[in-house]
Amino acid sequence: MIISVDTHTHSIASGHAYSTIDDLAKAAQKRGLAGFVLTDHGPSLGGAPHRYHFGNLKVIPKVLFDVRFYSGIESNILDKKGSTDIPLQYAGNLDFIMAGFHEMCFEPQSEKVNTEALIAAITNPLVDAISHPGNGAFPINIDAVVDAAKAYGKVLEINNSSFRVRSGSKKNCQMIAQKCTENGVLMSCGSDAHYHTDVGIFTEALTIFDEANANPEMIINSSVENFEAFIEKRKALRKEALQSLK
Ligand SMILES: [Zn+2]
Ligand SMILES: [Zn+2]
Repeated sequence: MIISVDTHTHSIASGHAYSTIDDLAKAAQKRGLAGFVLTDHGPSLGGAPHRYHFGNLKVIPKVLFDVRFYSGIESNILDKKGSTDIPLQYAGNLDFIMAGFHEMCFEPQSEKVNTEALIAAITNPLVDAISHPGNGAFPINIDAVVDAAKAYGKVLEINNSSFRVRSGSKKNCQMIAQKCTENGVLMSCGSDAHYHTDVGIFTEALTIFDEANANPEMIINSSVENFEAFIEKRKALRKEALQSLK
């Protein structure tokens, strides 16, 4: 399995990450990646950028230091209805939109409530992927979440930083990768780099994909072609959804 695009990276704009976009791009080039997605945290997290940050990403060249640059956000799930802090006015132009649980924005609750919130986020037409669903601090019903991801064509992330910073993630990610593979559900693989030296590091996640016998075709960022086909489809669907909100 090869991962060509890192779908989860943070720059200094996130407030608790320490590399510039250029640092991230240079690291991506050094690691031999074809591209990376900048997914700074949504505005509700302490220290995260203002929504204008997400509106102005268009000024960044599409290719930086020979790697492709994609704009994105890791938005926050805010309540059990699955509300997020995705800035609506920019949601049609971002390349990749994730939503995930972060303690500061959503206190971990019972498995039932966490699952309800996560599934509601999956059904949100603006959300492409769920970041670190394997986080042990937020117990979920994995079967129900995988079923919802399948029904809505959404992606579940295997997050390489989780194994270091989110306890309980390994077992959960093994189950998620197994069930996604059995049921033909899309996955992504992100480094969740908060410093450039982590860009393109997927070691533990790749072991999990191997153990689950995952099909590279079902990992959206296993190739640039796969990734771009996925985001083009999702952007069109997001634009449609935004139109109907007007
Ligand atoms: Zn962060
Ligand atoms: Zn996160």
